[in-house]
Amino acid sequence: MRLVLVGPPGAGKGTQAQYIASNLSIPKISTGDIFRANVSGGTDLGKLAKTYMDRGDLVPDEVTIAMVRDRLSEDDAQDGFLLDGFPRNVAQAEILRDMLKDWGQALDLVLELVVDDDEVVRRLAGRRTCSQCGRIWHVEFDDKKDDKCDACGGALFQRDDDKEETVRHRLEVYQEQTAPLVSYYADEGVLVGVDATGPVEEVTQRAMEAIRPFMG
Ligand code: ADP
Ligand code: ADP
Repeated sequence: MRLVLVGPPGAGKGTQAQYIASNLSIPKISTGDIFRANVSGGTDLGKLAKTYMDRGDLVPDEVTIAMVRDRLSEDDAQDGFLLDGFPRNVAQAEILRDMLKDWGQALDLVLELVVDDDEVVRRLAGRRTCSQCGRIWHVEFDDKKDDKCDACGGALFQRDDDKEETVRHRLEVYQEQTAPLVSYYADEGVLVGVDATGPVEEVTQRAMEAIRPFMG
């Protein structure tokens, strides 16, 4: 299965990607996670990406695409993958299509996680991430009174770009640059929308039902 998740920041892409990828035994490839790992590691890529991420802007396509090309070339991605956070504009989608075509591959399905703006803002305001295992939590919905990860005991942190002002800008960037992917992939005949409201497990179930007809 070659899958892409699209949806606004806070839609639950990262959360669902964990479960869907594990259900399908394919690697979850999250460009946001790879950028953040580079930022923490202090690499040149991380230093460059950070200036864009802190403002809530997209990292330039050239850099992002090179990073994804490297990741998709790894052994574990040859029989399938779940992309979370890439592509994020039509130019990235076109290059992804050409790249896969060169390798004799194509996307099987693009899942759009559908949630309204109010819910997205609530989800982002309470998002916490584990500094050790990367799991995503929510202060209110997961009832996180302490700042510890229930899975591994690591310390939870709030992402710099989840501050209110940056969130507003990221939502604008989504509308302007990423939302056009929905009609792009609808035209390609690979788009399926999934209602991403309600409990996490129910959203996962809906996503898996949407995926099933596309499984070989
Ligand atoms: P969210 O989960 O809130 O949608 P991500 O973790 O996917 O956010 O991305 C965080 C930031 O990383 C983005 O605001 C952007 O700066 C950068 N980024 C992630 N993926 C891409 C991409 N495909 N193209 C450009 N920038 C990206
Ligand atoms: P994205 O990757 O699309 O930016 P995340 O997966 O990081 O979104 O989710 C954003 C926040 O919303 C996190 O705090 C997460 O715990 C929470 N969340 C995700 N899915 C749900 C859901 N179905 N109901 C309530 N909160 C959710």
